[in-house]
Amino acid sequence: MPQGDGAMLRRLENLDVHNKRVLVRVDFNVPLKDRKVSNDNRLRESLPTLRYLIVQGAKVILVSHLGRPDGKFLDELRMNPIAERLSALLGKPVRKVDECAGPSVHSAIAALKPGEVLLLENVRFYPGEEKNEEAFAQQLAELADVYVNDAFGTAHRAHASTYGVAKLLPSAAGFLLEREVTMLSRATLNPARPFLVIIGGAKISDKIGVMKDFLGKVDQFLVGGGSAFTFLRAKGWSVGKSIVDEKLVDGVKQFVKEAYQQKAEVILPQDFKIAPELKPGVERGFAPADKIPEGWMGLDLGPETIKDFRRRVREAKTIVWSGPLGAFETPPFDEGTRAIAQTILESPQLFAIIGGGDTAAAIEQAGIKNPPNIYISTGGGATLEFLGGRTLQPIEILKM
Ligand code: AMP
Repeated sequence: MPQGDGAMLRRLENLDVHNKRVLVRVDFNVPLKDRKVSNDNRLRESLPTLRYLIVQGAKVILVSHLGRPDGKFLDELRMNPIAERLSALLGKPVRKVDECAGPSVHSAIAALKPGEVLLLENVRFYPGEEKNEEAFAQQLAELADVYVNDAFGTAHRAHASTYGVAKLLPSAAGFLLEREVTMLSRATLNPARPFLVIIGGAKISDKIGVMKDFLGKVDQFLVGGGSAFTFLRAKGWSVGKSIVDEKLVDGVKQFVKEAYQQKAEVILPQDFKIAPELKPGVERGFAPADKIPEGWMGLDLGPETIKDFRRRVREAKTIVWSGPLGAFETPPFDEGTRAIAQTILESPQLFAIIGGGDTAAAIEQAGIKNPPNIYISTGGGATLEFLGGRTLQPIEILKM
């Protein structure tokens, strides 16, 4: 399952960074509210690498994406609030430029002194980024002497700033990326059984492919959140106004068939907490999974499902969990996610890997810091792809 060990990655400590221009790809794709960073976990996770580079006297040039601007400059997705927050966390100024290439960037870099930090603009403002265009990778490479990738959350995307540029400069893995690869590899080298994969969230399209990668390796899939309704529709049930990905109904049917052949159980919710719409304070009720009334939508696991999922978690030895099991940002539709998080925390017999910001936040809200039986990964899609055994090109290229 794991595709290598952190020890195989080229290490930051072996890279000569003193007085060098070091381009660091970070994952600063953080949530914003009123143009301020509303959760700075991802910035904090990058601090060990950044502090190391500062102490070593590197000229630190940071580059990240933010949201999905699709190759266009959008004011609301500029990196300015991130520069501000990062500066407070580092306790030193972080200069921000409004582009990723061109004369203004070159002159800002020329003015950098050892130990100073510069943040480039949102790299996805450039169409060449997601297309991994060689010309754009070249423009990025011209900014620096060496390249460090510390963006594990984006390690499943071979883009110009995560992959193309690594081919053009001496490069190494940052401390965060190295830790993720080491921990995820170790944790699942010989997973103890029963092995459960819990899938939630809204977009099943992101996840069905990776779920297939786990066939033959896991004992049970527990499917909750918005993802469950496409499975229920595949059974031919009506699901009211609940979110369904109609295009994927056939794909899900095929997946369930393959899972059966591979002796993996697909466990779906038996009941839901329902409401006419998703908003705070809305009227709510409960319904069995095959009797969601017209005009209502399933927004969280129901009590029978919570009981069933908790029992399965208590019997498990290894769990991989990605995606909230309800619309957890809007209480009371957070109950299922919280109940499962709490049960994992109370189950010392198991080892759980939690991927994705939403799911990690649910564990954090359950109130335990650094629980020993849980590894919280900074990735969502990247974590699932890595654990499912896919080759992640931005990681491959950093290997010896
Ligand atoms: P994803 O990015 O696919 O992991 O989706 C995360 C989002 O799924 C969160 O914002 C949740 O509020 C949302 N979500 C989870 N369960 C449901 C549901 N039953 N109906 C609508 N949205 C949901």
